[in-house]
Amino acid sequence: AAMAAPPEVVQRFTELVQTEVPYAALCYMFEQVEATTKRLLIIDILTHFFRRVITHAPQDLVQCVYLCINRLCPEYEGLELGVGESLLFKAVAEATGRPVAKVKADVTLRGDIGQVAMLSRSTQRTMLGVQRGLKVATVFKTLRQIATTSGQSSMKLKVDKIKGLLASCQGAEAKYLMRSLEGKLRIGLAEQTVLTALAYAFVLHHHHSTDGDLALKVEASGSDSDADPDETISRRITGVVAPETLQSAAETVKAVYNELPSYDVLIPALLKRGVDHVHEVCKLTAGIPVKPMLAHPTKAISEVLDRFEGHTFTCEYKYDGERAQLHRLPDGRTMVFSRNSEDMTAKYPDLVVKLNHAVAAANQQNAAATEGIAPTTSFILDAEAVAWDSAERKILPFQVLSTRKRKDVREEDITVKVCIFAFDLIYLNGRSLLRESLAERRRLLYQYFAHVDGEFSFAKALVATDVEAIQTFLDESIRDNCEGLMVKTLDGDEATYEPSRRSRNWLKVKKDYINGIGDSLDLVVVGAYPGRGKRTGVYGGFLLACYNSDSEQYETICKIGTGFSEADLESHHDQLKQHIISKPRSYYDYAESAEPEVWFDPKVVWEVKAADLSISPVYRAGVGKVDSNKGISLRFPRFIRIRDDKSPEDATTSDQVAQMYRDQKLHTAADERLDDDY
Ligand code: ATP
Repeated sequence: AAMAAPPEVVQRFTELVQTEVPYAALCYMFEQVEATTKRLLIIDILTHFFRRVITHAPQDLVQCVYLCINRLCPEYEGLELGVGESLLFKAVAEATGRPVAKVKADVTLRGDIGQVAMLSRSTQRTMLGVQRGLKVATVFKTLRQIATTSGQSSMKLKVDKIKGLLASCQGAEAKYLMRSLEGKLRIGLAEQTVLTALAYAFVLHHHHSTDGDLALKVEASGSDSDADPDETISRRITGVVAPETLQSAAETVKAVYNELPSYDVLIPALLKRGVDHVHEVCKLTAGIPVKPMLAHPTKAISEVLDRFEGHTFTCEYKYDGERAQLHRLPDGRTMVFSRNSEDMTAKYPDLVVKLNHAVAAANQQNAAATEGIAPTTSFILDAEAVAWDSAERKILPFQVLSTRKRKDVREEDITVKVCIFAFDLIYLNGRSLLRESLAERRRLLYQYFAHVDGEFSFAKALVATDVEAIQTFLDESIRDNCEGLMVKTLDGDEATYEPSRRSRNWLKVKKDYINGIGDSLDLVVVGAYPGRGKRTGVYGGFLLACYNSDSEQYETICKIGTGFSEADLESHHDQLKQHIISKPRSYYDYAESAEPEVWFDPKVVWEVKAADLSISPVYRAGVGKVDSNKGISLRFPRFIRIRDDKSPEDATTSDQVAQMYRDQKLHTAADERLDDDY
């Protein structure tokens, strides 16, 4: 079972980790991880390691986890590890008594300062009197000191600290130490993997508080297929924990971490309460950034409609600025976090002022209202900060915003004005709104914040219904300097806020995606279906065809029923009834399943737009060109206008339709490659 950590590795963890974690133990684990690319094996190794630490050296667990992901503190505190290359060269040179140039040349040769440090160490006898046996706690503390040292002689101080550590390093320790300092551990350990292993380790710990039994036993029959990692690993944990338990533990730990991305809080809570109760202490907190919810890309409006059929959904402008998660803490402070949970408060002093205006205005309104709505004490608001032209009162493109300075901005120096466009509220007056529907979150957003011209707005929204309305809204959004639309479910379980998820409940529609098929078609009206309900007395739907210039036939392409005003329908009825024929022309190519009630002579040409094209067993356009016996059809077609200036022979040809279909496929393929990034 190659996916399970070999027993000798587990044994080694047991030997190395006693009442504290030596740095050697961590580095030994790193070596095991670096030696494989198999995620399941990595999880297994890590689970064993963490479990040993939990049971024997729990006080070192936080530091171990931070060193695994190569960070020194929660991301949002912004303390970066990466130390400049030249400084590292200097430290290695001094520690090993070799010239800097020599070290540099070696690094060029081997491509890894870690490797060079390790090899240099082994040729150099350890300095006399230097304490051996580095501890994880010491390494972590020193790395923090290095990262926080600044000022005049900081360079020398840093070099000295690194030298000190290097002097105590043995074997692979020097390598990983240097890589940590560089800010790149390069062992292929993803944070999600660390969280999974952490969860598994805690579950095992709580099932077997004694260590001797080795709950993780290798089951010889376990298959090594790259199946679901949680499922596969559990097969190798014999008779201890049910796969569902492990899986749900991993989900819990990840979910809790997304709401409160701080190991400083999460790990003590896990140690104290275990996985089952961790959420009672680890909750969404104003002042700690939540991992933002992300959107799923779509290629066409038709995809949106396919996904959201049967749901109520809303379209919002997708503003092209910078995501801003705005926090109001109970003590009155305001904090601004970026998409990546970076603290941007210092970059946006003006934004804080504007936010205050919006809150004050709402509080004032609410105080005046009879229902007695409580004033705002704390909140987390999800918004986009957008460059704003105060004179023209309009949104400016992202390029303008990106010219703003990033650090320590003084309000009076700000040249690029910013307007907040709020689109979500995830925490209010001490209460998490994550599990509320968007409809409810939005209701509270509108209640507790107020529009302030040019300072604070709500994302422009439309409760959408059909392609046409969405298309129009999309065009508007582009005209208003936005990127396109965000389409979101409004009600029920599928409309909650999902931190860090690229959710299918949020779809983004960008203009670029639509363009590939945005060309309109000119099609011939060959038939109609009588209208019902409001459309009684006129035609309710029409059968359209394109023109095959080789065979001189009209090939049906779709049925159309949207895009018409009432007046349109009446005039179409009047015009078309003059062209009624009793049976289809011999040069009409159609399928019996799509036969209209009334046939027309080919006289009238309409301009039509559609969401996309698809292969259809029912329609005949371009039959034989893309598929041997199926035609191409338009999905979600809508009427644009009459083309009086075109004769039926000038209509879009079957060849053109086939080409459009092929182009769309190319676009789709390109988009799918893009999607792989996610
Ligand atoms: P990109 O911004 O390039 O589309 P992304 O990965 O940063 O990609 P997405 O999930 O694709 O983010 O899109 C969501 C982003 O769009 C948010 O992070 C936010 O900054 C921005 N945005 C603008 N308007 C809205 C809105 N009304 N609702 C949600 N997000 C919005």
